[in-house]
Amino acid sequence: MMGKAYPGAGPDLKYNTPFELLVAVILSAQCTDQQVNRVTAGLFIKYNTPQQFAALSPEDLAEEIKGCGLYRNKSKYIIQAFRAIIDRYAGQVPHSRTELEALPGVGRKTAGVIAGLAFGAGVLPVDTHVQRIARRLNLSEAKDPSRVEEDLSAYILPRQRMAAHHRFIAHGRQTCTARRPACSSCCLTEFCRYPAKKGEHSCT
Ligand code: SF4
Repeated sequence: MMGKAYPGAGPDLKYNTPFELLVAVILSAQCTDQQVNRVTAGLFIKYNTPQQFAALSPEDLAEEIKGCGLYRNKSKYIIQAFRAIIDRYAGQVPHSRTELEALPGVGRKTAGVIAGLAFGAGVLPVDTHVQRIARRLNLSEAKDPSRVEEDLSAYILPRQRMAAHHRFIAHGRQTCTARRPACSSCCLTEFCRYPAKKGEHSCT
C-alpha cells in the first residue's frame, strides 16, 4: 500500500561511494537532505577518500561544511571517523552495523542507513518519522528506536526493510506529519488508530 503511495521513495542524499555516504549521513543530522547535497556537491570534488578527509584539520573541514547545522562537531566526527577507518579497517568502510556504530559520530540509525544503502543489510533504521508512524499504526509502542525496529522487523522481510524505511519517511514528510497529519487523504486510515483518537473521520 505504501509502495503504491510512494513509488519513488528512496534516499535523497547524493553519494557515489560508501565514504561519501558516510559523510553525507553524518551531515544530515538536523539538516535537510537538500542542504546536505548542496554542501557535498562542492566538498566531494575536493575530498572523497578517507586519507583526504583524515588529513584535514577540524577548522578547515568546518569551513567547508558550515552550510550544515552543528558543523563544528560534525567536522570533528568526520575526521575522527575516517582516522578510525584507516587505523582499524585498512581504509575501507566496515560493512557491519556493529562496526559502523563504533565509529565516531555514527549512531545506530546512521550505521543502519549506511549498512542498508551501501552494503544491502536487511535493516530498518528508525528515525522520528518511522517511530511516530509505527506508534500511530499500532505497530510499536516502544520509545527506544532499537525496540521499534525489532517490532517493525517482525512484519517486514529483511530484503524489504530499507524500502519500508524510505516509505515511512516519505509518508512522514508528505502526509503523516507530526503536528497536522493529513488523515483525510491517507491510504492507511483504516489501519490507524490516530484518527479515532482525534475524533477525525476515516478516509475512503
Ligand atoms: S491516518 Fe493519519 S495518523 Fe494515521 S497514518 Fe494516516 S496520516 Fe498518519
